[in-house]
Amino acid sequence: MHTHSLKQLSAMLQSKQVSATELATHYLNRIEASNLNAFTHVDRGLTLAQANAADQALAAGNATALTGIPIAHKDIFVTRDWRSTAGSRMLENYVSPFDATVVTLFKQAGMVTLGKLNCDEFAMGSGNENSYFGAVKNPWDTSAVPGGSSGGSAAAIAARLTPAATGTDTGGSIRQPAAFCGVTGIKPTYGSVSRYGMIAFASSLDQGGPMAQTAEDCSWLLNAMTGFDEKDSTSVQRDKEDFSRQLNQDIKGLRIGVPREFFGAGLASDVEQAVRTALAEYEKLGATLVDISLPKTELSIPVYYIIAPAEASSNLSRFDGVRYGHRAADYKDLNDMYRKTRTEGFGDEVKRRILTGAYVLSHGYYDAYYLQAQKIRRLIAQDFQAAFAQCDVIMGPVAPTVAWDLGDKSDDPVANYLADIFTLSTSLAGLPGMSIPCGFGQGEKNSKRPVGLQIIGNYFAEAKLLNVAHQYQQATDWHTKSPE
Ligand code: GLN
Repeated sequence: MHTHSLKQLSAMLQSKQVSATELATHYLNRIEASNLNAFTHVDRGLTLAQANAADQALAAGNATALTGIPIAHKDIFVTRDWRSTAGSRMLENYVSPFDATVVTLFKQAGMVTLGKLNCDEFAMGSGNENSYFGAVKNPWDTSAVPGGSSGGSAAAIAARLTPAATGTDTGGSIRQPAAFCGVTGIKPTYGSVSRYGMIAFASSLDQGGPMAQTAEDCSWLLNAMTGFDEKDSTSVQRDKEDFSRQLNQDIKGLRIGVPREFFGAGLASDVEQAVRTALAEYEKLGATLVDISLPKTELSIPVYYIIAPAEASSNLSRFDGVRYGHRAADYKDLNDMYRKTRTEGFGDEVKRRILTGAYVLSHGYYDAYYLQAQKIRRLIAQDFQAAFAQCDVIMGPVAPTVAWDLGDKSDDPVANYLADIFTLSTSLAGLPGMSIPCGFGQGEKNSKRPVGLQIIGNYFAEAKLLNVAHQYQQATDWHTKSPE
């Protein structure tokens, strides 16, 4: 049952071959038996109550196509019932008084929440090793990282502990873990999915999106989670669209831009080979490859690692021991309370970013770093517009290597940052991007580790991206592979 797509599960639920309660129980049992550390909070009673409500809706005939299908949420989306930790000691026992808009939308669609998924602390990381609740293991090889920051989401889907999950992507955190775990994920255009109740990291970059086995599944989830939200000041006002509408369109004549800068010296040969094979498959499907250039790709690393920490230093100032979560037990005065609370509550990477962010925003450095980064951010976005004059979508690797070993980069923040080279520019430009499984590499350990193909589109081209991904998934079977 756990190998089924959302479409199959939906058909089984509607025809009463399985009940929402049976389905939820099946997945809860799998979660309980797994040792990947993918979840931060599971509560059988809460899940089964939602499943029961879904069964009643199905019996009464007022169900949607998603009613009764289980989903799990990255622990960065706040939930009224489950704890909301953002992977941080700061919020270890925090329970939100409200649900994030995304959580509400999936509830309204009748989906059943399985629990909360582990992630890097405040979504800062590329390996899910920055979680206060411990690293998540990659189900393909438990000595490898699952990618990050939505590592719990990707690992849980790959191990078939849930058929669907939410993730968030600030600089690659949906696409890169999807690639490392061999699942499908899409980061929509900035502003498409409400950020209300998504614990903030870098507000001008943060964007929620779905992760699942297939592009078709992602289109169903995107249909439910996208839409204008007056509670999010950067939410885009657009007509509702059906992201599944183009899935079956022929892609003959599709022009695929292949950026030179994504195939340079840093790209591992096993990843390059899998990606080139995927591009050849697209040619067989009738697409043509166009050589393009995204000349500022390299600059996306310094630019992102100035802008994201700057915004994080401001967003995380709310964790002061007064309003949310952890407060130090002993302190002399108010300043001492702030200092001890934040010293105890935040992990090393979060502190590093707060310090960097405060520095680049400070008097005397603001012009030299922050303002300069904003200007280059604009140029990076312009590079993409020039490229889209020559092609319909852009394709390349998601990351320079397959998943690395747990512990390998945990003491080296810069090594982590460099691994984000192919995902950051899309985020800085606010464009939609996705990752689909396209083969396996060996890494250095000669183990079998998934490779992802990145597909980038112009603003609001999600339906096109999903079409392009779906056509590939009709012709290949990488997305059906699971580590069992
Ligand atoms: N790896 C990047 C970082 O650490 C991206 C994280 C994300 O997209 N949330 O900031």
